[in-house]
Amino acid sequence: MSAPDNNRAEETAGSPSTPTVAVVHYGELALKGKNRPAFISQLIKNLKRATEGCGVRRIRNLTGRIVLDLEPAADRATLEDRLRRVMGVANYSLGFKTPPVTEEIQEAIEREAERHRFRSFRIRTKRADKTFPLTSPEINAKIGAAVRERTGASVNLDDPEFTIHIEILPGEAFFYVERLPGAGGLPAGISGKVAVLLSGGIDSPVATYRMMRRGCEAVLVHFHAYPILPKTSQRKARELAEVLTRSQYHTRLYLVPFGDIQSTVVTCVPGPLRVVVYRRLMIRIAEEIAHKTHAKALVTGESLGQVASQTLSNLTTIEAAATMPILRPLIGMDKQEIADEAARIGTFEISIVPDQDCCTLFTPKHPATRTTVREIEAAETALDVPALVRQGVEGAEVVEIAFP
Ligand code: ATP
Ligand code: MG
Repeated sequence: MSAPDNNRAEETAGSPSTPTVAVVHYGELALKGKNRPAFISQLIKNLKRATEGCGVRRIRNLTGRIVLDLEPAADRATLEDRLRRVMGVANYSLGFKTPPVTEEIQEAIEREAERHRFRSFRIRTKRADKTFPLTSPEINAKIGAAVRERTGASVNLDDPEFTIHIEILPGEAFFYVERLPGAGGLPAGISGKVAVLLSGGIDSPVATYRMMRRGCEAVLVHFHAYPILPKTSQRKARELAEVLTRSQYHTRLYLVPFGDIQSTVVTCVPGPLRVVVYRRLMIRIAEEIAHKTHAKALVTGESLGQVASQTLSNLTTIEAAATMPILRPLIGMDKQEIADEAARIGTFEISIVPDQDCCTLFTPKHPATRTTVREIEAAETALDVPALVRQGVEGAEVVEIAFP
């Protein structure tokens, strides 16, 4: 498995060729030893789901790669877009199937090469079928010479404008001219479930994506202050969930009414401590939802020192309210890095739509940055915590989101 190509060839105006297969390579998956079959079958299941309606006839697990056989009318653009988001894919290519016969491969490659404009190229062959009469370097040399003659381009092994890949397997061969980068990571669902606290902000969608990319299925929990505040934050959470669902295919989003709970906190907790108390209540409610949905950990978009509630002491105080692990995949990232990643995964534009969520509601001017568990527990004695948690859990609305 190698890096994606830096393909700088242009397609000529001639009739477009119609790929007959998509070849998918997995990266880290290959390292998983005894668990490998389970990882691959999860990846295949996800690929099936992701490519629904794109004209995929069947999906096959061949040694070292997964091959999607395409209908003649397959929707190439949609397929590419869907494959790009499948977790666990290292790279993928739309290409062509031929019989495993040198002359036939060569003829088909020459025809395809003529459709592109490039000054330099290389051929890279992988021979999974060791009984094939030529070795990989021999195939590269033979077909390379033919392409050179046919196109006038020169061979450049280090930095070519165009790379042609050949894969020879028992009974069939594939070739393709562009290797596209996949999402990487592990197939969504293989690592189990987590419950993510999803605000309408920039960070938590990125945190969700990162956990899905490590193989988790994310259950989403959003706290809103409707009807005290408008429905904007719920709409954003829903739209964010829709984008994220493109990588896990089915999502449960819990919309938890939190405004009244905050109003109660305001009446009995001193201003500077409120933010941490709100967060601890969110954690407890999310944990109840996690139990109900068999999620094993909580996830937040917190990043150390970013705001008052994310100092080391406040994170510690917030964490003390949880019995499950709280995972914080963004803890060491800068805001700009997070924003860049949000743009890449397609959540940034939704996140920056102005809104007020429950975090901006009843937030004191000067929240304490150094709270202790003892101090917060003392403040919480003024509240009926179990009743507030129940109020949140029972008031939650569940939205099911599917993709495609
Ligand atoms: P984000 O961009 O994810 O909103 P932030 O930088 O605005 O993060 P905070 O508002 O302090 O930081 O929130 C920290 C984390 O707490 C969020 O990343 C999210 O996991 C959780 N959180 C905050 N507000 C909500 C909410 N309304 N619903 C669900 N989770 C929330
Ligand atoms: Mg926020």
